[in-house]
Amino acid sequence: MTSTSAASTDSPVIEWTDAPAPETTRVEIADRYRLFIDGRWTASRGRKTFETVNPATEAVLARCDEANAADIDAAVAAARKAFPKWARLKPTERAKFLYRIARRLQERARELAILESMDGGKPIRESRDVDLPLVAQHFFHHAGWCDKLRYAFPGAVEPRPIGVCGQVIPWNFPLLMLAWKIAPALACGNTVVLKPAETTPLTALRFAEICDECGLPPGVVNIVTGAGATGKALVEHPGVDKVAFTGSTQVGKAIAAACAGTGKRLTLELGGKSPNIVFADASIDQAIEGIVQGIWFNQGHVCCAGSRLFVEEPVLDEVIAKLDRRLSTLRVGDPLDKNTDIGAINSKGQLDTIRGYLDQGVAEGATRHEPCDCVLPKRGFFCRPTFLTGVQPDHTVAREEIFGPVLAVMSFRTPEEAIRRANDTRYGLAAGVWTDKGSKIFEIAGRLNAGVVWLNTYNRFDATSPFGGVKESGFGREGGLHGLRGYLEL
Ligand code: NAP
Ligand code: MG
Repeated sequence: MTSTSAASTDSPVIEWTDAPAPETTRVEIADRYRLFIDGRWTASRGRKTFETVNPATEAVLARCDEANAADIDAAVAAARKAFPKWARLKPTERAKFLYRIARRLQERARELAILESMDGGKPIRESRDVDLPLVAQHFFHHAGWCDKLRYAFPGAVEPRPIGVCGQVIPWNFPLLMLAWKIAPALACGNTVVLKPAETTPLTALRFAEICDECGLPPGVVNIVTGAGATGKALVEHPGVDKVAFTGSTQVGKAIAAACAGTGKRLTLELGGKSPNIVFADASIDQAIEGIVQGIWFNQGHVCCAGSRLFVEEPVLDEVIAKLDRRLSTLRVGDPLDKNTDIGAINSKGQLDTIRGYLDQGVAEGATRHEPCDCVLPKRGFFCRPTFLTGVQPDHTVAREEIFGPVLAVMSFRTPEEAIRRANDTRYGLAAGVWTDKGSKIFEIAGRLNAGVVWLNTYNRFDATSPFGGVKESGFGREGGLHGLRGYLEL
């Protein structure tokens, strides 16, 4: 590999070649996957299975067992049985397991990245360069916390784990969401039952294999595949002490209602409609890249996507023209091609939802721009990157989460107006601000009602940095010191 530094001009340009002969990565996919319960591959008691497809080809990749209530019972019982020993294990020993898992994730990263792209549709460049490195980083980061928990919370006498965690995750970052949930839970001494999304179960099942390879004691991590009913059975199970959910606001509200009064601990990471604000004094070319990264990363299947763009009026025409030109260079297509920028939409259902919003946007008076004219593959679920102008604040496309490659462009005249309109949403997950003025950055960031505010950048993640929302985007934080609170009795 030859790498040139993109750093500022006064730093030396470093070039190196460490490329071994190109290696081939074998990714074997079985016809059928069972449930991973108590360290064993177990057939579902209901004998029901479901298919997972490759959204870029519509080919069936594998059949997975659908866990029913009896399977959830067994998984929770296994996690309960494993809990006391795991919780009392010397923290340095617990850390060794997490380090081992992190290393194994790195060793199998190429295979996992390919599988993630095949099962979910995301471009291989993103699975390989963003998802997998972050997945390993989350395990390394949390391995380091295991023996430092009492120093992390000086007020607490002896932080204790909560118990059995029921975790339910979505399809947009399957392995990364798993890492966000399992790494802190294990570091704090909890045991886990996790349900991946129905359309992307394969990397979670690979992760179960890795737990096995690393000698993790049976029952500490259990992976149960299935659809919404499986998730419901898990979060409502009386043997679960802590529920962690990432997904839609609608399902999150139902889970909050189901957990109310049960004494279960709960954290929710839900939807968003995040504002990305560009001031006239910003470096416009840099902002264009940030806008692209903000909404077209992972086909826009990103809870914190910068899906509402607010541009200061004097530069609106310039931004639209440059966005138009930049979008015409993006390549939509095969997720496994390393030159692909926009992969497949995760499912037929999601593609229909996105198309519905585009039609509604036009019907409500917006203008649709689709500058990228590349030919879409004949099979699979694809959508060109699109932006809408002439959007009014009360338009559906300005208010509801589309969860696809669609940007709503609006303008503003004063900073006050930008802040008011950015905050005029039921969500509060993230926000972005683009300006050259340091004073403006801090003034505006402090007044945006969002869990994460990015300044002159967007969609950057790090295991040390807490992530989470306010308002209908949920509560609780994942990552960093703050993320540990959700998995400890302090
Ligand atoms: P979803 O329908 O809420 O599903 C999320 C997970 O919950 C899936 O595993 C799903 O299973 C399961 N589920 C469905 N109904 C359930 C129920 N009644 N009880 C328990 N579990 C249930 O959301 P999605 O369509 O997969 O994901 C898209 C949404 O997630 C977007 O709104 C996005 O903003 C949000 N999201 C938020 C974050 C964040 O960090 N805040 C991150 C990623 C995504 P099935 O897949 O089998 O239906
Ligand atoms: Mg799939």
